[in-house]
Amino acid sequence: MRPKILYIEDNEQNLYLVTFLLDKHGYEVVPARTGAEGIDLAGRTEVVLVLLDIQLPGMDGFEVLDELRRMAAFDNVPIVAITSHAMVGDRERILAAGCNGYIEKPINPRTFVSQLGQHLSRDSSESEGGQ
Ligand code: MN
Repeated sequence: MRPKILYIEDNEQNLYLVTFLLDKHGYEVVPARTGAEGIDLAGRTEVVLVLLDIQLPGMDGFEVLDELRRMAAFDNVPIVAITSHAMVGDRERILAAGCNGYIEKPINPRTFVSQLGQHLSRDSSESEGGQ
C-alpha cells in the first residue's frame, strides 16, 4: 500500500502538480479543498504527512493546524505549510504554531519532492520493507 499524503489546498493547479509529482515518487495524495474537509479526512485516513496551504477559504491554515495538532493520531505526523510570498512575515508564526516546515509557492517541480524528503525520511523508512 502506498503511503498517503493529505494535501489541503484550494488551488487546483497546485493540487494537480503536487499530486503528479508525489504519485511519480510512490505516494498517494489525498486531496482536500477546504480546511473542514481536510480535518474530516484526517480523522479517518492514515497519512505519513500533511501538506497545508495556509490561505484557504473559510477556515484558514492556522485554524486547520490547531485542529490537527489536537488530534492524538497526528502527534508524530509532520505538517508542512505551503506559503505564498505574501506570507513571508508569517513564517515564524507558522513554525511556532506547530508546522514542521514550509515550502514556498510557486512550487518548484524540480525541487519539491526533495524539499519534502527531510520530513518524510523518518516516517517512510518503516514501511520500506513491505515491498
Ligand atoms: Mn490557497
